[in-house]
Amino acid sequence: MLFISNMKSIFSPKLTTLPSQFFKSPQTLIFSNSPKFLQNKPNLLHLRRPNSSSVKSTMETVRMASGEIHVIVGPMFAGKTTALLSRIQSERDRGRSVAVIKSDKDTRYGLDSIVTHDGVKLPCWPLPDLLSFKHKFGIEAYRKLDVIGIDEAQFFEDLYDFCCEAADQDGKTIIIAGLDGDYLRRRFGSVLDIIPLADSVTKLTARCELCGKRASFTFRKTDETKAELIGGADKYMPVCRQHYVNGQAAVEATRIVLESRKVHCESPYLEATSVSS
Ligand SMILES: [Zn+2]
Repeated sequence: MLFISNMKSIFSPKLTTLPSQFFKSPQTLIFSNSPKFLQNKPNLLHLRRPNSSSVKSTMETVRMASGEIHVIVGPMFAGKTTALLSRIQSERDRGRSVAVIKSDKDTRYGLDSIVTHDGVKLPCWPLPDLLSFKHKFGIEAYRKLDVIGIDEAQFFEDLYDFCCEAADQDGKTIIIAGLDGDYLRRRFGSVLDIIPLADSVTKLTARCELCGKRASFTFRKTDETKAELIGGADKYMPVCRQHYVNGQAAVEATRIVLESRKVHCESPYLEATSVSS
C-alpha cells in the first residue's frame, strides 16, 4: 500500500476535531472581527447579539460541519472496493448509520448490491448521479445518516459538488473508492478533483499480471478506445510500469501496422497496381 500523502490512514480513522479554543470562545468567531462573508450570511446575522440560544445554534452549526472525506484510488484489481467495504463495515460496527452508492453504469454484479472481487456483498444504491441521492434516500433518513460510501467514483460527474455539500454542510463522513487514472493513465472523471477536499488519500496497488511486481496501472487488453469501457479481467489487467510502457508500445506498433494495411487495401490505385502486376 502506498500513501501518496502524509495524511492519516483511513484504516485508523480519527474523528476530525477543531482546536479546543474554537469551542471555548465561539464569540471570537461570531461576535468580534467577524469575516465579511459571515456578516453577509442572513442566517448568522442574529448571532451578533449574544444569548444562550444563539450560542447553542452556532455550536450545532460547527458540529454539523465536522464531516470527513477519505479517498481510495488505484488501478483495477487493487482491492479498492474491498477496502471501501472494510471501512464501511467497521463504521457499522461502531454503531454508525451507513449507506453505499455505486454507479448504475456498472451492472456486472447486479444493481442492488456491491460485490468485491473476493465475493463480499453489501446492499447499495445504484444511481446515475450523486446529487439525487438525498431525495431518493429520503430527507429524514439522510439526516440520520453518518457515513456514505461511494464506489466506482470515476463515473460520477457531480462528485465534487456532492462531497462539498455532504461533508462541509451536512457533516457526513464520505468514503470514496475509484480509479484515479484510465487505461491511458490520464485522469478519470472527477476523482482527482476531490483530493484537495480530502482528509486522507490512499493509493492501493495490485500485482502485475505479467511479472508479479507491484502494479500501479491498468492495461486495456482490447483495441477499443473509449474511456468508459466497463469490464473485468476479460478487458483489463493490472501491470507494473515496465509492462505498461512495453504494452502500450506494442499496442501502438500494432495499430500503425493495421492502419497502414487498411490504407493499402482501401487505395484504388494500389489495388489497380496490384491487379496489373
Ligand atoms: Zn510487470
